Amino acid sequence: MDLYAVLNLAPGASPAKIKAAYHRALLVAHPDKNNASQPTPDIAAIKDAYRVLSSPALCAKADQDQLRCPRPAQVILLADFDEQGADAWTHMCRCSGAYAITGAEMDHGVHLVPCTSCSKVVWVGYELAEEE
Ligand SMILES: [Zn+2]
Repeated sequence: MDLYAVLNLAPGASPAKIKAAYHRALLVAHPDKNNASQPTPDIAAIKDAYRVLSSPALCAKADQDQLRCPRPAQVILLADFDEQGADAWTHMCRCSGAYAITGAEMDHGVHLVPCTSCSKVVWVGYELAEEE
């Protein structure tokens, strides 16, 4: 079972691409819109693939189950990121791209961050600040 194939995505696609592919796949699979001759994955499979691929926690579990998910190339601590303004951090990739994460993403427990230009994904190490 290849979750990326269900959404017609390349492995390691960014969260934005996964979301766009999910909406495209839903449109194509919709009975009212599906006038293509080739069979499409059913809507339940598409929703399931999106649910797993868009959730770092589920994705990590899927990885253990040998499903294909972004596999982080390395762990980089948030302390090694450069602060960009009040709520964003970036870390240079070995290519000319960068890994970027925002405070809002961290609030949602996002750890897997793709490079903006190559296919690498890193795991960002941080602990959520305790609310007082
Ligand atoms: Zn890169």
